[in-house]
Amino acid sequence: MKDRVCFDCGGTRYAHTRLPHGPICTACRRRRHYHHESCPGCGAIRPLAYLAGALVVCASCAGTESIFACSTCGREDHPYGAKRCARCTLRDRLTDLLTDPATGQIHTRLQPVFHELVGSERPQSGIWWLRKKPGTGPRLLRQMARGDVEISHQTFRNLPSDRAHDYLRSLLTAVGVLPPFEIRIERMLPWIEQTTADLPAEQAALIQRFAHWHVLRHMRRAAGQGRLTQTITDASRRRIRVAIDFLAFLETCGADAATATQELLERYQEHTGRAFSHEHAFIVWLRDSRINTRLVIPAIPRLTPAVTVSEEQRWAAVERLLHDDNLRHYVRIGGLLTLLFAQPLSRIVAMRTSQTTVTDQTVHVTFNTTPVQMPPLLDDLIRQHLQHRGKSLYASRETGWLFPGGNPGRHLSTEAIRSQLVATGIKPYENRKATLFGLAGDIPAPVLADLIGITHKNAAAWAGLAARDWTTYIAQRAH
Ligand SMILES: [Zn+2]
Ligand SMILES: [Zn+2]
Ligand SMILES: [Zn+2]
Repeated sequence: MKDRVCFDCGGTRYAHTRLPHGPICTACRRRRHYHHESCPGCGAIRPLAYLAGALVVCASCAGTESIFACSTCGREDHPYGAKRCARCTLRDRLTDLLTDPATGQIHTRLQPVFHELVGSERPQSGIWWLRKKPGTGPRLLRQMARGDVEISHQTFRNLPSDRAHDYLRSLLTAVGVLPPFEIRIERMLPWIEQTTADLPAEQAALIQRFAHWHVLRHMRRAAGQGRLTQTITDASRRRIRVAIDFLAFLETCGADAATATQELLERYQEHTGRAFSHEHAFIVWLRDSRINTRLVIPAIPRLTPAVTVSEEQRWAAVERLLHDDNLRHYVRIGGLLTLLFAQPLSRIVAMRTSQTTVTDQTVHVTFNTTPVQMPPLLDDLIRQHLQHRGKSLYASRETGWLFPGGNPGRHLSTEAIRSQLVATGIKPYENRKATLFGLAGDIPAPVLADLIGITHKNAAAWAGLAARDWTTYIAQRAH
């Protein structure tokens, strides 16, 4: 019986693996394989299971072959099966998935996908992605490798834009198989088709012209400047809906876009009961594109800043974000950069690690041109975040995003931070205005503009507002 007793735990169940000094059970072997330790013999960080007197040492120190070594590559990291490591297993499965039957080789265009996944920091995740019953992404990849499906953005345009397809598409883009694309704009295309599908042909054609020449152009410009957010996307759709609504109203009055009069436009406004705003871009566009120059929209007043969060509320939120360990790191950091430095979430999520400078004593963040020293606690949060960020499937591809997103090559979405802040009762947009108000009262406008990266005009407007007595301001708002 003695030779069936695990040297490690003393158990007799599944004590199958033989070591020079006796058997080890499956559970102990697995535990030791997953938990590398510093070898007391040589100091290397490896799985230890060999007895040398009272010490447990590595295979080299014991002068023998490691039972933990992969039978293919000989490495002890990334345990997966009993004999082979996760990386070797993944290499085989990917080779199988990506081989082009015409050549017997991995499809030429898909080689970057192969190298990216095999080289990733956590091959286990890749194996999971290719699990026995492969999901949508791997299945599509196989069809691409076999030449059954074209490797192009067009392929994805003809497929539903869901998680699995977006993920694969982002992966192919991140590794350079497909050129860069903007998912929010891509999703607009089918949406425009659908939304105009039931309209009379002439109206549909006009709306599509408006959508392509005005709305999408606007979105592309925003995307080019890296500031295309969900808010802008939602507003873009609303502009198209309002345009459709306006045309429908005109139709009931026996008119169309070209024949509408100013009087009809005013009746339309009464009918909707809504003030003219940026939602009515269609009417401005009708004028600009000379389809109907009779229609005039009164100048849309610029929104004056209004502060709805008090300083007490803002500092209470700051305290919460500094100390609440139940919140995720990126939510706390994102929230604090908004609440302390008035950074919009859309800019925070697109930050690069190169904007941070970390020393033993300090952490500096450059929002615009000048590095700003981070206060205590926030500096620790950023330090820890930099150490732990991006331990995901594709971390081997250093994108440089401070907040890498779930999809390869992309940063986190604003919504990922916003929704979690709102869930804790912190409204980032409202708080940011309070922060601007607070900062503008303390810092000269031109300095503020340079420090946090807002326009000088904007900074001056906030300074003007902050210069007014706070109590008078509250009183004014009450009216
Ligand atoms: Zn054991
Ligand atoms: Zn050793
Ligand atoms: Zn291996």
